[in-house]
Amino acid sequence: MIKNAIKTIEEVRLDFPILEREVNGKKLVYFDNGATTQKPKVVVDAINDYYSNQNSNIHRGVHTLSQEATSAYEEARIKIQEFIGAKHSHEIILTTGTTGSVNLLAHSFSKAFLKEGDEIIISAMEHHSNIVPWQMICQERGCKLKIAPMNNKGEIIYDEFLNLLSSKTKLAALVHVSNTLGTINPVKNIIKDAHKVGAKVFIDGAQAVSHDVVNVQELDADFYCFSGHKLFGPTGTGVLYGKEELLNQMPPYQGGGDMIKTVTFEKTTYNELPHKFEAGTPNIVGGIGLGVAIDYINSVGFDFIKKQEEELLIYATNKLKAIDGLKIVGEANEKASVISFIVEGIHPYDIGVILDKTGVAVRTGHHCTQPIMDFFEIPGTIRASFSFYNTNHEVDYFVSMLERAINMLK
Ligand code: PLP
Repeated sequence: MIKNAIKTIEEVRLDFPILEREVNGKKLVYFDNGATTQKPKVVVDAINDYYSNQNSNIHRGVHTLSQEATSAYEEARIKIQEFIGAKHSHEIILTTGTTGSVNLLAHSFSKAFLKEGDEIIISAMEHHSNIVPWQMICQERGCKLKIAPMNNKGEIIYDEFLNLLSSKTKLAALVHVSNTLGTINPVKNIIKDAHKVGAKVFIDGAQAVSHDVVNVQELDADFYCFSGHKLFGPTGTGVLYGKEELLNQMPPYQGGGDMIKTVTFEKTTYNELPHKFEAGTPNIVGGIGLGVAIDYINSVGFDFIKKQEEELLIYATNKLKAIDGLKIVGEANEKASVISFIVEGIHPYDIGVILDKTGVAVRTGHHCTQPIMDFFEIPGTIRASFSFYNTNHEVDYFVSMLERAINMLK
């Protein structure tokens, strides 16, 4: 359940201690939220508290510390379930991140559902982590990878996506929000249309869940995933959501402790969901921290988050467009607060280095989306990705430092 906004931007910024730090003698302006978001103090405190007061292993211990840690970890799973509107908490598999989730899915889904000649559709704007695992699976199983193309604005050409769908399509695996272009894909329609041919749909929500409400039941997504560290939680955490009936048909990904019911040398029986997919000691403190991050997001509310980010996107887009020789890459009608751009005659890397000297953190390069760079015939972009704790004042400073960098490099 998402509560309404109750904080001001000044209060929100105070929740993130790192925003007070200086970089190269200048106040940090952190515009690399697409890579990872900063952590509110409550998350940092929860990690400290866990290691100071609760540290123990979960699920198997009868002693108090283990029981407390198990409860905290399993409560986090319920918070995640409610956050994305899943029907059951056992449909929430805790992983190491989006990459971990895609690899788990690719391995287990393919063993349960794919045979030679089957087809998987991805889009032209996928992150490498939603390309390479499927390439590996296609090679292993003799399946075909089909690519839904995009237009020059960075939007999926929907008719062409529809043309790719057939009875051979077993899975459509598409990104919800592009980390490079900011494009918000029409995932509800994608899911509805893919279901018409009997395909299952997996959505990479790595860049989506921090910007807007996601409800996997309303979307009718078969699988959905995200990374905890892009959602104000600890690194090394992530989620794979899957519908219970599908997860139950899929074999485990890894073998080891916790994922079994019984083991003899002759035969092993597997544990119930979600433990079947969670072999070994998990990132306990990470999971607990992610639960606290979700509490924090709920306390801020998506009304506030969306309003702040939409304003930043419009404000920064207009200011950047006014710069001579600057071209925005990715101009979808539906866009999250991510702006990629290039500047004529200047390598993105050089701009990134100079901006860092002024305290501004942006990302430069291919952003793990080399096919997007090939499509636009560019080596890379500069990417400014905003979160709700950023301000127009920071955008002003960034744009003036960018103009200075361009003048120096011209
Ligand atoms: N998918 C998208 C859209 C991303 O933006 C990212 C990270 O930038 C990933 C997948 C991979 O996430 P992680 O490195 O947390 O596994």
